[in-house]
Order: sequence, then structure tokens, then C-alpha cells
Amino acid sequence: RGLAIGIDIGGTKVAAGLVDGDGRVIAEARRSTPGQDPRKVEAVIVDLVRELSAKHHVWSVGIGAAGWMDLAGSTVLFSPHLAWRNEPLRENLERLLRRRVHLVNDADGAAWAEWRFGAGIGQSRMVCVTLGTGIGGAMVMDGRLERGRFGVAGEFGHQIIMPSGQRCECGNRGCWEQYASGNALGREARELAAANSPVAQELIRAVDGDIGAITGAVVTKMALDGDQACIELLEEVGQWLGLGLANLAAALDPGMFVIGGGLSAAGDLLLEPARRSFARNLTGRGFRPAAQLELAALGPAAGMIGAADLSRIAARR
Ligand code: BGC
Ligand code: ZN
Repeated sequence: RGLAIGIDIGGTKVAAGLVDGDGRVIAEARRSTPGQDPRKVEAVIVDLVRELSAKHHVWSVGIGAAGWMDLAGSTVLFSPHLAWRNEPLRENLERLLRRRVHLVNDADGAAWAEWRFGAGIGQSRMVCVTLGTGIGGAMVMDGRLERGRFGVAGEFGHQIIMPSGQRCECGNRGCWEQYASGNALGREARELAAANSPVAQELIRAVDGDIGAITGAVVTKMALDGDQACIELLEEVGQWLGLGLANLAAALDPGMFVIGGGLSAAGDLLLEPARRSFARNLTGRGFRPAAQLELAALGPAAGMIGAADLSRIAARR
């Protein structure tokens, strides 16, 4: 069935892959997300598609974007982290590329890939959350992506978990993604460093005193290397993660939660506190079966693999 291109557009980077029918990535390319101009983001996508299709025949192109797609997959209605507002992204890209493209939410792509090729194979009700700039959410129920009435189901990152809490890019306060995303981890770490606490010494040294350079990725790496303050920061994020997942279990009752996105690189340092907090907050605990919490198997490539696979399915129709 040939090769498909999948492109994952996040708040910080655009990652593209040439993907075969078994979900294997044959070639990859990436750029950083070019600021707030929709035209520039389109130019980067076009550039990546051209690069990856230069040497191969490409059957279909799928775009997974960190935005709220309409059901038809033609318009990005809104994006908290990017400049799209009612943006006819599919039409724009099809004009520039002179070929059909398939548009999905980035987390929908990741969930689909995990269900088809990764941690969720065989699951009848699977919920996926991706932890990066924000929190992406998606569900595969009985082999189908559940997208809601208007296409924007699964925006779990914006469940309000702390009224009058941290301001969110979506405009509200106290959204879950302000507490359990990669960005949240970075913000907490910068706050700790700014307090100049002795426990943050190693962290401050790691960025040569440039506190603004502390990101979730920096903290994750240091935690994996054994830094105690960074381990504790991840623990806190893990607790928020488990709390939000317990809320989702109350509403959706899945058999498995798959945890993906950049922050999932923290592995058990994130997952263990999340499992404890999930078990502690789950309603009806002790009297009901509880969903498993598992790390995504495809890592950060899940988004591009899923977008590619969904485009292949759409092209067959
Ligand atoms: C957006 C989602 C997106 C997620 C991950 C959230 O802030 O609302 O649409 O999937 O970030 O990128
Ligand atoms: Zn929000």
C-alpha cells in the first residue's frame, strides 16, 4: 500500500515522518514551530512534505495539529498554543501542495497510532493523553476514534481542575494542562529556581544560572540522572496527572490510559506517582475494576505515525 507522510505540529516543534503500512518510520525530518504566523506554519509543512516525498512515491499525507478540528477535518477552529482561529488549513495546504491532505488533531493521531501499533493494541476502550506543551487527549472506542458531535471531544487538558488557578492559554484558569504538562513542569522548576532554594542548586547550575532556560525537558533529563529536586518536581506533576485521570475514569471508564508526549520520557518517575494518585482518587475504588496506566510504546513518533495511518485509511475511501 506504499508510504504515507505524517506530520505532527506541536507548540514547539513540527515533526514529519515517512511511514509504512505497519507503522514503521522510514525517514524523518523536523523543524521548530515558526512562531505565531499561520502562513509560516503552512510553509514549513509544505517544505517537509517536499523533502520527504523527493525520493519516494507517497500514497497519502496526514497532518496532526495541536488544534481543534471540525468534524470534516477541513478547518482548525481554535488552538490555544498556535495562531489558528477558524483557519481553513486543509484547503490552504491542498492548494500549496496540489494534492489531498488529511487533517486530524495531534492527540487523535497519537491515540490512533498507539491503538494500532503500540501500547493499546487490542484495547476496546482506550484513552490516550499526550503531555507536551499542553495536554492532548483522545479516545479509541471499539476500534473507532471518538470525536464528539463537533469534532472537538477529548480536550481533557482544559478540564478545570483548580478554579481560579493558573491562567491557561485557552483563556480560562486552572486547566489540567497547567498542572500536568511538560510546560507545567518547566514553570514549576523555574519557580523553584527563582526562589533560590538550596535544593535547586544543581538545576540552576545546569543552565548556567539562566533560569529562563529551564524547560520540562531539562528537568526530565536531570531527574533521570538522579537529581532529587527534579525527581520531586516530576512527582508533583505525576500526582496531578493521576488526579485528572481519575476524573476521566469517572466519566469514561476506559480499560487503559496510554500516556504519551515528550514528558512521557520520564517513565516511571512520572508514572509511579500518577498510578498512586489515580488509585487514591478514583471514585468507587476498591469496588470497581480500575483502568491500567501505561506508557506510550511509540514515544514521540506516535503523532506522526497516527496522522500518516489515518490519511492512508481516508485515501482508501
Ligand atoms: C490543545 C489540544 C492539543 C493539545 C496537545 C491542547 O492545549 O487544546 O488540541 O491536542 O494541547 O498539543
Ligand atoms: Zn485551558
